[in-house]
Amino acid sequence: MLKNNKTGEETVLNATGFFVAIGHKPNTDIFKGYLTMDETGYIQTIKGTSQTNIKGVFACGDAQDNVYRQAITAAGTGCMAALDAERFLVEHEVESFIEERAS
Ligand SMILES: Cc1cc2nc3c(=O)[nH]c(=O)nc-3n(C[C@H](O)[C@H](O)[C@H](O)COP(=O)(O)OP(=O)(O)OC[C@H]3O[C@@H](n4cnc5c(N)ncnc54)[C@H](O)[C@@H]3O)c2cc1C
Repeated sequence: MLKNNKTGEETVLNATGFFVAIGHKPNTDIFKGYLTMDETGYIQTIKGTSQTNIKGVFACGDAQDNVYRQAITAAGTGCMAALDAERFLVEHEVESFIEERAS
C-alpha cells in the first residue's frame, strides 16, 4: 500500500522489492552562515583537500560530496579530513599544549 502524503490518496503497487531513496539534500543546516556551501547545502572544500573556508575546520563524506555519495568515497574523504586535522593540530602546536596540560 502506498500513500501520497500530499493528497492522502492510497494505492496498491505489486512489487517483489523496493529501494529507498532519501533525497539529495545534505544535513548541513547547522553550519549555515559559518561554512561556505553550494545552493543545495553541500559544504565546499578547497579542491584536493578537506579544508573548508574556516581554518582548522574540515569536511568530508556526503556533507561535501555531491558527485559520488558512496560509502567508500565517504570513508576516503573521512581519512583525508582526519589527516588534515592532525597536520593542522601539529602545525599549530596543539599537541604540545595538550601534553603540557596532561602533565
Ligand atoms: C538508501 C541508501 C542506499 C545506499 N546504498 C549504498 C551502497 O549500496 N553503496 C555505497 O557505497 N553507498 C550507499 N549509500 C551511500 C552511503 O550510505 C553514504 O555515502 C555514506 O553513508 C556517507 O557516509 P557519511 O559518513 O558521509 O554520512 P552518514 O553515513 O550519513 O553519517 C553521518 C552521521 O552524522 C550524524 N549526524 C547528522 N547530524 C548530526 C548532528 N547535528 N549532530 C551529531 N551527529 C549528526 C548522523 O546521525 C550520521 O550518523 C546509500 C545511501 C542510502 C541512503
